[in-house]
Amino acid sequence: MTGTVFVSGGSGYIAGFLIRQLIDAGWMVHTSIRDLAKEGAVRASLSVENSKLKFFAADLTNDAGWAEAMAGCSHVAHVASPLPTDAPKHEDELIVPARDGALRALKAAKAAGVKRFVMTSSMAAIAYGHGGTKSVFTEADWTDPTSPDAYAYVRSKTIAERAARDWVAADGGDMEFCTVNPSLVLGPLQSGDFSTSLEAIKKLLEGSMPGMPNLGFGIVDVRDVADMHVRCLTAPNMAGERFICSGPFLMMDRVAAILREGLGPQARKVPKLKLPNWLVRIAARFDPVISQVIGELGKRRESPATHAREVLGWVPRPATESILDTARDMIRLGIVKV
Ligand code: NAP
Repeated sequence: MTGTVFVSGGSGYIAGFLIRQLIDAGWMVHTSIRDLAKEGAVRASLSVENSKLKFFAADLTNDAGWAEAMAGCSHVAHVASPLPTDAPKHEDELIVPARDGALRALKAAKAAGVKRFVMTSSMAAIAYGHGGTKSVFTEADWTDPTSPDAYAYVRSKTIAERAARDWVAADGGDMEFCTVNPSLVLGPLQSGDFSTSLEAIKKLLEGSMPGMPNLGFGIVDVRDVADMHVRCLTAPNMAGERFICSGPFLMMDRVAAILREGLGPQARKVPKLKLPNWLVRIAARFDPVISQVIGELGKRRESPATHAREVLGWVPRPATESILDTARDMIRLGIVKV
């Protein structure tokens, strides 16, 4: 099945891979960016047939442009949402665009007669605020946004997905809605402008951390995240569905070992030392980014993608491939000096 699909946030990491996969599969794509002055640069990095892709200006915080962008579209992938490297000064810098942007996109989609709306949510909306003992999560779990370990980004994704589901239940009509909930997204880069999710690999490769904190992440490849979106746009009966989009959960010392085994001398700066939790807690007093993840120390968040395998036939590639492809592209593009 093909047609015309709107993908929000065409300048983003996941959206770029999704747009390419959709065009390869025969779709016509409309996409939004905040400022059309960036169209040339985004087109160049996407490198797809020009006639298959149209750009529109739309900001998550403003009504302008959404109706025009979705006119003539039967399907929507709402991918855009703020994902900053640094902690925001105020959580509303993330929550307001995430929540209100999703509602803007939903309202414009319904008005345009869209049949299927796929929203990029996150494991952040599933696996936080459950206390210290729970370590395995399914699509039935919801983050408690009032919990102290729900930092601003986690709250933004949880509140946005909840608001979207509530709106769809009340006003969505026949439009089918589902979410893709990825864990940490790694994989090849399209340009030197890369998503915040790749920062951990950068820091390990350049040796900018004195050692490895006792932190871990579920890992998923950007190509597989895009593939799950395509499946959600095309599979039958997606109304209300929610899909964990994750491969294995790996602690940072395992990621470092994969880098050393796969890159040899190019991994010479990757630290071997594990940082004790007490030292990371002290560092967090002086660094707002570290302080955001202090509640993560030692935690495991396993999130098997059994539901996506069963319903969508989705099969992610091995995490080793994603980790090494991230690292090799960062070296190739000069993002890190090894
Ligand atoms: P990204 O490369 O930073 O892309 C984010 C996109 O959102 C960019 O296109 C950005 O536009 C756009 N955006 C941010 N604020 C906006 C605003 N006010 N108005 C319009 N557009 C705005 O990150 P990504 O990794 O591709 O993330 C895409 C989606 O996946 C997000 O919803 C994110 O929460 C979700 N996700 C990501 C990960 C991950 O590990 N990367 C994991 C789980 C879920 P500009 O280029 O103009 O800033």
